Amino acid sequence: YDQLLLYKQQMESVSHLAAGFAHELRNPLSVIRGFIQLSALTNNIDKYYNTILSELDRMNDIIDDFLSLSRKAPEREAYDPYEFFQSIVSLIRSECLLQNIKLDYQMAKTPKKVLLNRSMIKQVILNLLRNSIEAFEDEQLDRAFSIKGYVRDDYYGIMVKDNGPGMEKKVLDQLGKPFFTTKEKGTGIGLPLCKKIIKEHNGHFEIQSTLGEGTTIKILLPLISDAD
Ligand code: ADP
Ligand code: MG
Repeated sequence: YDQLLLYKQQMESVSHLAAGFAHELRNPLSVIRGFIQLSALTNNIDKYYNTILSELDRMNDIIDDFLSLSRKAPEREAYDPYEFFQSIVSLIRSECLLQNIKLDYQMAKTPKKVLLNRSMIKQVILNLLRNSIEAFEDEQLDRAFSIKGYVRDDYYGIMVKDNGPGMEKKVLDQLGKPFFTTKEKGTGIGLPLCKKIIKEHNGHFEIQSTLGEGTTIKILLPLISDAD
């Protein structure tokens, strides 16, 4: 009987996952469809080209997210954290520019390295940025997002912060749970995935949020010395 119950629960979470996945992909798909029709009608592909591309990129990101949730522990390599973040900052910068967000980016240099899977850590940062973007209210004009890297003992710390609306305690209490979302189009995969990835890097992931002030995420990744 227990087995049956477990099976039933598993099936429920699988169908929840599948429904969320389909829903998430349908949105950019219908945008793309619409813009292709528009560009044919107006004979002006240039006007819609960027939106179509960015919606396609979004679909790619969503697929990446869902796949990563079921992926085994990632392969990691030693990287200079300063250089790694340097390699992804242009993505963050252009996203912030598009969304009218002031970006504050500051990374500490260190002679040590961090063992990381580049695409996964990139995904963590982009997920956090996406959450901040989605959290900002339309009325808020002084939007700010900051990423700061610092060295603390044997860890490289990354503090990701926004000055958005923050979260209620009710929301904060439920954050760890997969599929928990307050958004109509949310999947509730973003933060559980970030946590999972950081855990697989033997790191720490912490969320702080104050209603009306903003949200801060602290990530700690273990530093290794060259000798290791
Ligand atoms: P999703 O983005 O699909 O809802 P997440 O796991 O990424 O799933 O986030 C879960 C919930 O946490 C969001 O629905 C939102 O309510 C809240 N949240 C996450 N990041 C922020 C943030 N920066 N500011 C305010 N609320 C946030
Ligand atoms: Mg999210």
